[in-house]
Amino acid sequence: MHIYNFSAGPAVLPAEVLAQAQQELTDWHGSGLSVMEMSHRGDEYMAIQHQAEADLRALMGIPDNYRVLFLQGGAWTQFAMVPMNLLRERRQASYVHTGIWSDKAIGEASRYATVRLAASGESCGFHAVPEPETWQIDPESAYLHYTSNETIGGVEFHFVPDAGVLPLVCDMSSNILSRPVDVSRFGLIYAGAQKNIGPAGLTLVIVREDLLGAPLPGTPTMLDYRTHADNDSMFNTPPTWAIYMAGLVFARLRRDGGLEAVERHNRAKADLLYGAIDSSRFYRNPVALTSRSMMNVPFTLADPALDEAFLAGAAERGLIQLKGHRLAGGMRASIYNAMPLAGVVALVDYMREFERQHG
Ligand SMILES: *Cc1c(COP(=O)(O)O)cnc(C)c1O
Repeated sequence: MHIYNFSAGPAVLPAEVLAQAQQELTDWHGSGLSVMEMSHRGDEYMAIQHQAEADLRALMGIPDNYRVLFLQGGAWTQFAMVPMNLLRERRQASYVHTGIWSDKAIGEASRYATVRLAASGESCGFHAVPEPETWQIDPESAYLHYTSNETIGGVEFHFVPDAGVLPLVCDMSSNILSRPVDVSRFGLIYAGAQKNIGPAGLTLVIVREDLLGAPLPGTPTMLDYRTHADNDSMFNTPPTWAIYMAGLVFARLRRDGGLEAVERHNRAKADLLYGAIDSSRFYRNPVALTSRSMMNVPFTLADPALDEAFLAGAAERGLIQLKGHRLAGGMRASIYNAMPLAGVVALVDYMREFERQHG
């Protein structure tokens, strides 16, 4: 039986990438070494990391005045590193509150800055991105932060906000590389790797050079972006295996036609799943049409008492990790880049069958 893994993260990886890693596991390109065993300062590993960066730059069209940093500590560490590094003499930072992850980012930033809410989705139950015309961006803020995809609520921005003169900062953990994006619109982008990039343990930061170099007094060496920018992300030992795996994913996405092709694939999957939900009276997704996530699709059954039976039947068919987040309940199907269309077809077939039996 084929297993389709709908986990929100760590998440499914491309089958071809796993097979390549398996093949190279004990002997990378005739070196006699696993990538895990290589010195991070050796020529072989350095070539792997440089190629990964080059492929990511090509994929996303990252301009030359941006640095790519391969860090650790997850998106959670970025919740603190962003204000520590970007406040630069200012006391305020503006945030858009669209759900649970932006809430966490706001909470952590509040330890260092006065947080100004530019907009909040609270009045609509966090089921939509607040209309940009209603936003109030405090011009004294050091930057404007938003979460481009709320992984738990399934709310996604389908536009890049206008931050005016402020640097725009984005937590792209759960939709980076899912479609083309104009990096030049941003001051800083960060993403944990374990949703749409590769294994857990790697955090990607893309930062405009002029924002580096003025951290808050007392900022630890490791939490100063400049430390990593000045040392090619090799100040200390980087997460070598995770970077190697991410590099295989980047190369694969390039070969498959780049982010335009990825977006078409993702749109086809999302259309199929939302179509199945909307055409039934048994399943429901609460998110406004214009804010629905192409990556994480939460849905509920007409009767929550059927949840356990739904999950058990799904698992019998190899459709796993569909249980919704504990804070949201119901179901959630995460359909990241590496989820094949066949996985979504299998899920939709099962949903129809379950509805016929229980609806
Ligand atoms: C998963 C996730 C996080 C937390 O990531 P960690 O790497 O576990 O710290 C933060 N933001 C978003 C949008 C996420 O999806």
